[in-house]
Amino acid sequence: MIVLGLLVLNYVLMAVLSPGREPSVTIPYSNTAANNGFIQQVEAGNVTKVNTQGDTVDGEFKNEVKYPDSKAKPAKNFETQLPSYVTFSSNNELQKLLDSNKVETSATPINDGRGFFTSLLLGFGPVILLVFLFIWLSRRAAGGQMGAIGQFGRSKARRVEGNETKITFNDVAGIDESKGELAEVVDFLKNPEKYQKLGGRIPRGVLLAGRPGTGKTLLARAVAGEAGVPFFSISASEFVEAIVGIGASRVRDLFKQAKEAAPAIIFIDELDAIGRQRSSGGGPFSGGNDEREQTLNQILTEMDGFEQGDTVIVVGATNRAEILDSALLRPGRFDRRVTVPAPDKEGRKKILQVHTRSLPLDDNVDLDDIAAITPGMVGADIANLCNEAALLAARRGHGKVERVDFTDSLEKIILGAPRGIILSDEEKRRTAYHESGHAIVGMLTPGADPVRKVSIIPRTMSLGVTISSPDAERTNYDVDYLTGRIKVALGGRIAEEVVYGSISAGAESDIQQLTGIARQMVGRWGMSAAIGPIAVIPSEGQGPLLPGVSEVSQATQELIDHEVKRIVDEQYAAVMTLLSENRDKLDSLTERLLEEETLDMDDAYAAAGLVAPRAPVDVPLNA
Ligand code: ADP
Ligand code: ZN
Repeated sequence: MIVLGLLVLNYVLMAVLSPGREPSVTIPYSNTAANNGFIQQVEAGNVTKVNTQGDTVDGEFKNEVKYPDSKAKPAKNFETQLPSYVTFSSNNELQKLLDSNKVETSATPINDGRGFFTSLLLGFGPVILLVFLFIWLSRRAAGGQMGAIGQFGRSKARRVEGNETKITFNDVAGIDESKGELAEVVDFLKNPEKYQKLGGRIPRGVLLAGRPGTGKTLLARAVAGEAGVPFFSISASEFVEAIVGIGASRVRDLFKQAKEAAPAIIFIDELDAIGRQRSSGGGPFSGGNDEREQTLNQILTEMDGFEQGDTVIVVGATNRAEILDSALLRPGRFDRRVTVPAPDKEGRKKILQVHTRSLPLDDNVDLDDIAAITPGMVGADIANLCNEAALLAARRGHGKVERVDFTDSLEKIILGAPRGIILSDEEKRRTAYHESGHAIVGMLTPGADPVRKVSIIPRTMSLGVTISSPDAERTNYDVDYLTGRIKVALGGRIAEEVVYGSISAGAESDIQQLTGIARQMVGRWGMSAAIGPIAVIPSEGQGPLLPGVSEVSQATQELIDHEVKRIVDEQYAAVMTLLSENRDKLDSLTERLLEEETLDMDDAYAAAGLVAPRAPVDVPLNA
């Protein structure tokens, strides 16, 4: 009772203190995968104002931003926490950044109205509590759904889209197979009688499985658009922390509306948030979660309750299909799975075409070329890149979007924006040696990816960077290539060791990277004789093959660790020798880097006294 009262009090207080405020998302300070962190949004000119209170920043976006893992619809308001090194540093770089991006800034003392309410609460807490509780109870009695809880439930309302925002298959590119598999669903929604006449069992649920940003939501909306039917959507993750009962009642509502509007599509995003295996023991938090269970059960009940005439198709999306409860995947439920893969180079080119349709492109922009330098990016990343490039072009006063606008935006997305910190000469030299170490090892290791760029301009994410990338997309990795990557990752740290006899903390991400590669070599790719070709660690994005059960024995686990260490140690010794023997190259690249700060491929190789490898010339097949 008390807890419930406090909860209500909390909502009422929040409503009083922030009148009319839309719910906001909490976002990272910088660099999310999709680069929608606070700093990125400020730099992109998409933040209009911020208000700080202590190290909490509340702000408003110019254009709504959709966060892949946010529980809400695209967000207009956001909240982020300043890291302590930002708040306490005496420099005001952040202010400068905000000023240069025309962000209106203001601050609220930490002791504001909330303090007043808090003290009031402490003094008259019990009385207020009773009063509010009373009000709440009477409102609930009177208004039913419209009581306080109803209000809360409504704040994240599902949205319904008619035909006005018509998205079609033309807007979805690079994932033709997934599109092809959904063509039947479109046909079914358009001509349900055709299927029903023959007594065929119509599809009820379709599961779209793929990484965030691959276009699952887009695809579902395109199906609705193609078929000309309304699109109802809901994100399952909304219910995880909700008050028990809300999820189930909202699901009931949603299905009711969709049935009334049938034929229709119901889209349930992040299905794994409520649909994970119920039996997955193991973690300490895996006990029953009532709300999750109830919501899930309600979805199942609704799907089972469809009648022959209900032309409603439920499309679920997840990036973790393998953890879904098998009850969801039974016939009549989500029994069709459509994989939505990350696009290959050709696919990325097509997505680029879609997102540059309305951009004036300079002649020097070759989308083939941009597709080639964006391996690993998915649709959402590419949409973001095109947007950033357009913004950058505008800021630079270019009449059209030029190639450099794309390449600079890409660099910013991958590496973070340049950061205006001043390094001491000593720090700079050390960073230059570190990066030169990576680069020299990359240049001298046969089979390693060519070094494209070396830079010691400090960026949001690191003090310096060495970029190497293959000429074409690699689809298969051999042992030499992988040990080469480990060597390159070790190069920075070992260069410091060779030159200074000590290492700095700057090598953390290098170490993570190389440990990851070594572990996969041993555990997934069967590249260690001692373990043999046995998959002892699950593939990416998958939990253990059986939930909660570790599949390897203690002894094997130790052997894995031992093998990983052996592989890394061997490469360590090899790199130590390589860099000691090529100290002259290391020194001359470092000197050049200190002068220029950034070296492109040709200059970097030349500075080391080497010749840059040339990409093999593409011979058109039908020339
Ligand atoms: P998901 O639901 O898989 O996380 P979304 O459908 O929300 O991804 O994708 C976010 C945005 O990225 C889309 O609105 C669209 O602008 C862009 N996008 C993603 N995939 C594609 C694609 N295959 N073709 C064109 N645009 C895409
Ligand atoms: Zn490094």
